[in-house]
Amino acid sequence: MNLSNGPLAALLALSLLSLPACASPPPKTIRSADAAGPEVVQIKLPMSNAYLIKSAKPVLIDAGSPKDGPAILAALKAENVDLKDGLILLTHAHGDHGGAAAELRRITGARIALGAGDAPIAAAGKNDELRPTSFEAEVLKRVVDFKFEPFSPDIPITNSLDLSPWGVAGKAVVMPGHTPGSLVIKLNDREVFVGDMMRGGSMGGAVNPTQPHEHYFQADLERNRANIRSLIEGGAEVFYLGHGGPVDRAAVIKEFKIR
Ligand SMILES: [Zn+2]
Repeated sequence: MNLSNGPLAALLALSLLSLPACASPPPKTIRSADAAGPEVVQIKLPMSNAYLIKSAKPVLIDAGSPKDGPAILAALKAENVDLKDGLILLTHAHGDHGGAAAELRRITGARIALGAGDAPIAAAGKNDELRPTSFEAEVLKRVVDFKFEPFSPDIPITNSLDLSPWGVAGKAVVMPGHTPGSLVIKLNDREVFVGDMMRGGSMGGAVNPTQPHEHYFQADLERNRANIRSLIEGGAEVFYLGHGGPVDRAAVIKEFKIR
């Protein structure tokens, strides 16, 4: 019996998703500061990953689920980071990535940047119609469709956003696929944060997190595949994901059959 996929995995994933926020491990440095970019820490939340770029003006990539606000604030404190002049940069507006964005903005004073195509999802405080890519995803769909506090982005991104004002020599680029306004954050051409463009491992990344898979839901599957190919062609080596990961170039090429 294969435990890493199928409906059983979905059920096990559901039990993992119900872990309380206090179960979050401490933030972990996944990238040290060097000439190509600043230090980055991973904030592993019960249902998804958030990342903190420790630049001159810090950038929080993704804001977890509605109940993850306290865990993210605790991680900021542990890292000695004040987000006041920083940015809450959302890869997309789904409830497990933008769920605590409104609360975090209210408490920290940071601005929210989001792909303009996802502004309707944020305004509704509810996911758009999720399009499952497998039977497992059909099961999961019923659980991830929770409501969250609606918000409007301070910085709606229609094409790309230069991150140099925050001390990052990279950019956020709109790459619709998973959602209409999904973003990829490029620290540089080699290191990219792709949200739910793909998922790492199974059961929320608890099993084989460095093995990339098609994500459970894709609004536009073909466009998303084209985006993966374009990042590979652009020289991407490390993909940081919303669930599980990171995954490397060779694994992505193999899984998505890119030649
Ligand atoms: Zn998503």
